[in-house]
Amino acid sequence: MTHAQIQGVFQKQKNNRLFLAQSDAKVRIAKLKRLQGYLLDHIAEACSATREDFSKPEAETIIGELLVLQSEISYTVKHLKRWLSPQKQSSTLSAIGTSAYIQYEPKGCALIIAPWNYPINLAFKPLISAIAAGCTAIIKPSELTPNSSAFVKSVVEHLFQPDEVAVIEGDADVATQLLSLPFNHIFFTGSPLVGKIVMKAAAENLASVTLELGGKSPSIVDETADIPMTARLIAWGKFFNNGQTCIAPDYVLVHHSVHDRFVNEIKNVVNEMYNKEGKGIEESLSYARIVNEKHFHRLLSLLSDATESGAVIKVGGESRLSSRFIAPIVLTNVKDSMRIMNEEIFGPILPIKSYGTLQEAVDHVNKGEKPLALYIHSKNKNNSEFILKNTSAGNALVNEVLTQFGNPDIPFGGVNNSGIGKSNGIYGFQEFSNAKGVMRRRFGTVRFLFPPYSERFVGWLKKGLKWV
Ligand code: NAD
Repeated sequence: MTHAQIQGVFQKQKNNRLFLAQSDAKVRIAKLKRLQGYLLDHIAEACSATREDFSKPEAETIIGELLVLQSEISYTVKHLKRWLSPQKQSSTLSAIGTSAYIQYEPKGCALIIAPWNYPINLAFKPLISAIAAGCTAIIKPSELTPNSSAFVKSVVEHLFQPDEVAVIEGDADVATQLLSLPFNHIFFTGSPLVGKIVMKAAAENLASVTLELGGKSPSIVDETADIPMTARLIAWGKFFNNGQTCIAPDYVLVHHSVHDRFVNEIKNVVNEMYNKEGKGIEESLSYARIVNEKHFHRLLSLLSDATESGAVIKVGGESRLSSRFIAPIVLTNVKDSMRIMNEEIFGPILPIKSYGTLQEAVDHVNKGEKPLALYIHSKNKNNSEFILKNTSAGNALVNEVLTQFGNPDIPFGGVNNSGIGKSNGIYGFQEFSNAKGVMRRRFGTVRFLFPPYSERFVGWLKKGLKWV
């Protein structure tokens, strides 16, 4: 698409945005239900697209892409009427004589830039919030997953007019062109590095942003943790989608007294999950592949950097470039100076480091950027509370992994380097909405505040301050 064509789509949406803003809950709910029904009717196409892109297992497309969307739509449909009705506020003394309410209105034209790892989910989940809020939207899917991107485009073209929702495919150049346009809101999901570029571009137009970013999400396993269950949760969270999940446990900090038991258990679990029939993990239909050769080489370079500095491979290590296969890898003896302990891994490598005191574990987390997710595995409430109180993270889960993304009742997102703004349920709806505060005078007047200000009036103000 040429720049003029991109501008043309944007202009059409801009012309339509005020009309769309008038739509009521019923109209928006009907659109969401159409999207929901269409996705349900095209499960096979969705699974085939993600399989073509990086051999995503069918179950993982259903759980990680479609299930989350179905639940987000059902939740939004259930609550939208309430979110759109005026939210009455009680008046304070300083606003006596007035009534006040909050009315959510659409921000207007939205741009959604999606990554490749959950290419269907992360294009449509923000779209659900945009539709609920009454915004127009242009979606720019990732160029790294062309089959999923084509699927997203076909769904949108089937269900929406281009002046309401459009998909513009392309790489960073296309994203740059889109970012030069005066959108009212930009919802970006991707790396912190590109997130900074997006925020700079948004500043030119003072567009608001939601940045759903990544980073290193730690798992802390204390001495009281249920080791068999913890190993299963962490292995599932890490190796789901071949480790290419923003909220995957990036690395594990485990209490030294349970370190060896935990490592052994993970070893068993990897076998149980991906090699139950003993044919080798490469034969498993439950295990995805690395998205492209660049990421394949990046991961192997992280691994060799670690092993050259003394890290020990306890599980896995096999890889095959032709199919971009890397077997689940568990690393011990890792040091903080290694790249693997500093860069987001985003692949099936799990470094495990032991700690002595909980304070040490907390200090380790606080030394890095605030994570998108922090996982705590413990049966001791005092320990989990200590970690919760002494760290900061977008989301924190105790004895649980990954499911925060699909829970519309809680805000999902990061903090600073791991993100700005939230998605899920009302939090996503609010990102695409302006919370317009409306006041209406019912009786009385503020005439007594008008100048000229007499000395008596100023004296009265000074005395009255404490009563406000
Ligand atoms: P990325 O930042 O490389 O790309 C994301 C999107 O930005 C793509 O559509 C890409 O075309 C576009 N893009 C790339 N370079 C750009 C540029 N210079 N200017 C404008 N746009 C540009 O991320 P990715 O590799 O697709 O995804 C992996 C990252 O995303 C990881 O860091 C992961 O943690 C994060 N992520 C976060 C979430 C979340 O919900 N917080 C979800 C999934 C992935």
